[in-house]
Amino acid sequence: MPATPRRRYVWSAPLRTPFRGLTSRDGLLLAGEAGWGELSPFWEYDDAESATWLRAAREAADLDFPPPVRDAVPVNVTVPAVDPERAREIVLASGGCRTAKVKVGQRLPDGSVEPVEAELRRVEAVRAVLDTLHGPAVGRIRVDVNGTWDVDAARRRIPLLDRAAGGLEYVEQPCATVEELAAVRRAVDVPVAADESIRRAEDPLRVVRAEAADVVVLKVQPLGGVRACLDLAEQVGLPVVVSSALESSVGLAAGVALAAALPELPHACGLATSQLLTRDVTDEPLRPVDGALPVRRVAPDAGALAAVAAPPELEQRWLDRHDRLAALLDGADA
Ligand SMILES: [Mg+2]
Repeated sequence: MPATPRRRYVWSAPLRTPFRGLTSRDGLLLAGEAGWGELSPFWEYDDAESATWLRAAREAADLDFPPPVRDAVPVNVTVPAVDPERAREIVLASGGCRTAKVKVGQRLPDGSVEPVEAELRRVEAVRAVLDTLHGPAVGRIRVDVNGTWDVDAARRRIPLLDRAAGGLEYVEQPCATVEELAAVRRAVDVPVAADESIRRAEDPLRVVRAEAADVVVLKVQPLGGVRACLDLAEQVGLPVVVSSALESSVGLAAGVALAAALPELPHACGLATSQLLTRDVTDEPLRPVDGALPVRRVAPDAGALAAVAAPPELEQRWLDRHDRLAALLDGADA
């Protein structure tokens, strides 16, 4: 145990648009010898699962990140289920991102499922604006289904989307289960990425054994830290895309550190998510410049923290949660 209590801050910020049923995001920042770490498991995660997230926060606070092999990390812009004109605007305002992740298979705010024609128009619009910005066929497009299709729908829709995109980089989580991902992968030529199928440390190898993916999406907090992810990446032996768990820039910096330390990084990462928060814990949030995030640590600053301070009840809830998770981890490590 540290001799003096760690400095802790609880932050809370509204999201610009609702995500996974959330309208705001919150978490706890933890100070240590090396800098700041973030603990922000979603509230539906129980203590046993969330303790892994605390491992990641402690690593960031207490240890230097592994040495980077690159000084900038290419990131993708995410295009939600919006009309083509809005999709165009989002790519144009993305800070030079050359890779776009287009959401498909999505439920619209009115509860209906979007027809494939609307998805095709959106993907075509993204291809057109990427070509205008970066030259023909330079930009890459991936689609993210968030597991909503069945295997048949995936088999029918992926070739159509592939054509509309002028070639898809990959299709992310077309179906919900590992078995379905494997079936889709056998049925289509487009590479398959596993995202929601990887939530715990044992999942990536399960995906590999089932031959269910060509690419794995890794997130630092749920997998227990940058070093744990580097080990996993080595065991998995597939290309890795590092994504965020919708953290503040303090948490995103750990994702950037992982992406910076991976020996190979063939795909842009899903770390350009600070824009989804209306406010951040720093006045210098991690934002893409020329399509990439700089590799650097992030510390919260006082002015920004004051603006994202959580209401007292939420603050206490986080402090209590952190105490419980710390007791769990310290008990396990004793
Ligand atoms: Mg995804």
